[in-house]
Amino acid sequence: MSIRVYNTMSRTKEEFRPREPGKVAMYVCGPTVYNHIHVGNARTFLSFDVIRRYLMWRGYEVTFVQNITDVDDKIITRANEEGRSAAEVAQEYTAAFRSAMDALGVLPPTSQPLATQTIPDMIAMVERLIERGHAYVVGGDVYFSVRSFPGYGALSGRDIDELEAGARVDVDERKEDPLDFALWKAAKPGEPHWPSPWGEGRPGWHLECSVMSERELGVPFDIHGGGSDLVFPHHENERAQSEAATGRQFVRYWMHGGMLQIDSEKMSKSLGNFLLLKDVLARYPAPVIRMLMLQTHYRSPLDFSDSRLDEAAAALERISNVVRNLEWTVQSGTTGHGASVEDRAALDAAVRQARERFVEAMDDDFNTAGAIAALFELGRVCNAYLAEHLAELGSDDRSVLRSAAQAIRELLGVLGIRLEAEQKEEEPTSEVVAMARDLAGYGGEDAEEALRALVAAREAARAERNWSAADAVRDALGVLGYVIEDTPSGPRVVFRGKE
Ligand code: AMP
Ligand code: ZN
Repeated sequence: MSIRVYNTMSRTKEEFRPREPGKVAMYVCGPTVYNHIHVGNARTFLSFDVIRRYLMWRGYEVTFVQNITDVDDKIITRANEEGRSAAEVAQEYTAAFRSAMDALGVLPPTSQPLATQTIPDMIAMVERLIERGHAYVVGGDVYFSVRSFPGYGALSGRDIDELEAGARVDVDERKEDPLDFALWKAAKPGEPHWPSPWGEGRPGWHLECSVMSERELGVPFDIHGGGSDLVFPHHENERAQSEAATGRQFVRYWMHGGMLQIDSEKMSKSLGNFLLLKDVLARYPAPVIRMLMLQTHYRSPLDFSDSRLDEAAAALERISNVVRNLEWTVQSGTTGHGASVEDRAALDAAVRQARERFVEAMDDDFNTAGAIAALFELGRVCNAYLAEHLAELGSDDRSVLRSAAQAIRELLGVLGIRLEAEQKEEEPTSEVVAMARDLAGYGGEDAEEALRALVAAREAARAERNWSAADAVRDALGVLGYVIEDTPSGPRVVFRGKE
């Protein structure tokens, strides 16, 4: 079975075949660090975190590169408003971005280059483009000549003549063609600038991603990701620059995430309808936010609201309860005669099926909604099993209950949803064996058997009306953290842990 990926370039799902077997090279455009990121931005970063985690879980070695845009008009504007340097603003929000990503459980990139530390490489790419006839200098500016790159528009599915008609509105007479975009901008007073062959200036935004991805990963690399709002012009321009500069394919699979919305409108800084990730994280734990976001396929729009967060919290609580009950049952010593072989086999099959359905869904263009649904279905089967068999569960049931709990924990973990750690208090097995030797004449080494021998000894004492001997067994077990419960199928021992 293979993974299928929706490629924006071909507009179809394609079989995922990385350039090198077993390895994936991926690049996801990072933030412009002029403010805290909002939950819309976070959705895109989360989607690609899950894609990366799943590929890793499927055995790929993933190299994940993400840039930080730390020089940009918005950063400069903010710095001027606040009377600080652009570098100070960028540093503050780079640190804030990293800590918010960490709090959301997004794995740190393999490398995370800053635009301001990539200037010489960017200048080198502009020189390559000029040499190859794809760029031209006007004063201190350098522009990319869109008409010089025949495939322009193929990624976003736009027709270059229609684009041209639209672009005529804002004519900049220094450009040879209204579609051309800046690779290098001459410095304006009060802006950060670097020396270049064309004078002091700074790079255009699209350039850094072309340069960093090629330097860190080589071309063509496997996956280039971002939100769907980046397809045009950002990714169209990245592709044009890179393919024009190298003469080679830039990216094998272009992947784009759908927009997070509030009241059916895209969340964005400019519309003012945004919620900062850090503020939402102060109200809801990261696993709840992840659960909400991952219940929708990454390419679909996602409506964000408090009521949906509350629903996600309730869903997470339900599945956590299942796992807690399973683990508690396994730990608490199951000394009944056990569920029937058929029932046990059915639960075992349900665990296997949930794993298969999870993989099938994720292999199908990372369908996290389907993957989560498979886990909830297993949760329902487990609840029914526990409800039906709780009183009779025996040691034979333990391994299947344990494997169900492990499957849910592990697969939620693949989605980066961590349940609370298992409350594990080691059962005092050697003490139980020693106690059974003293009080029940037990000669073996197995703690389960020892518990059964102790219960049998107590039953025998009771049958002989030897209450003090019966109570001695009960009290001794109590000291080790066990209680004896009477059930319709006879007494069983449950490990509660020491008070
Ligand atoms: P920016 O800092 O604006 O370049 O955005 C960083 C990332 O967030 C990009 O991948 C954008 O596509 C993505 N993004 C911006 N707004 C949204 C939104 N409302 N929903 C999902 N992703 C978004
Ligand atoms: Zn980019």
